Amino acid sequence: MALEVPVSLTPSKIATFKDCGLAFRFSAIDKLPEPPSVPATRGTLVHAALERLFGLPAEERTVEAAITCLDQAVLAMADDPEYVGLGLSDEQAATFRAEAAVLVRRYFELEDPSTIRPIGLELKLEVEVDLPSGSNVTLRGIIDRLELDADGSLVVTDYKSGKPPGPRQEQQRLGGVHFYAFLCEQLFGERPSRVQLLYLGGGHPQSIAINRTEQSTRGLQRRVAAIWTAIERACEQESFKPQVTALCDWCAFKAHCPAFGGDPDAARLELVGAA
Ligand code: SF4
Repeated sequence: MALEVPVSLTPSKIATFKDCGLAFRFSAIDKLPEPPSVPATRGTLVHAALERLFGLPAEERTVEAAITCLDQAVLAMADDPEYVGLGLSDEQAATFRAEAAVLVRRYFELEDPSTIRPIGLELKLEVEVDLPSGSNVTLRGIIDRLELDADGSLVVTDYKSGKPPGPRQEQQRLGGVHFYAFLCEQLFGERPSRVQLLYLGGGHPQSIAINRTEQSTRGLQRRVAAIWTAIERACEQESFKPQVTALCDWCAFKAHCPAFGGDPDAARLELVGAA
């Protein structure tokens, strides 16, 4: 019996499918719970602090104000299941906050926030597109920051709390922001002129930016269509294979993965029993 095809795609789902078909199935089709992790939750906190910072008038966006925003975000996160689920001790919570503060301070090494003209923060976008195969799919994404550059053109910015990629992975990592730019183009009728990633982790913060063209839009459409066709075929054939790589060490589903002695059917049954 064929599996039900998911109703939407996001950049993270596309990345998961490309990295490992089985992890995609666990997440997007079986909807197995993913336990929170310190790096992901720390990233959420840093995003929240920067969102607050850009809610301030331009001249007030200082490092000190950013740290105050971080402290406000820490308070707001105290009851969040993602944070509570980490089960941090007081000492671990202090380290968690201090590491987030390092990332927030590093942001200022990449740009002067008083020069940025944001028009959207944590912007949720959704658009339904028709694919050449005759299928249609809903594309969804949350843009960290949409802004206007000096010429009044749209720019899509995404913060990353991890370390920057090597030169060979740069283009691949830009896939998510190209996806967001495509959503903007479909919804606002204007192609963002530039997309950029701001990496705050690792030894040195780094920004990776690229200008967008008509060719970028066509390339994104082709990639989405190809991935959606592959997902539909995998659902039809119930064939989502594990792909063992170094990423398995960070996989939330490793305990259920047959490549590591897990039992996916037991995990699915457990989820049905808990519902
Ligand atoms: S542990 Fe590795 S192979 Fe298994 S589902 Fe996760 S990413 Fe895929």
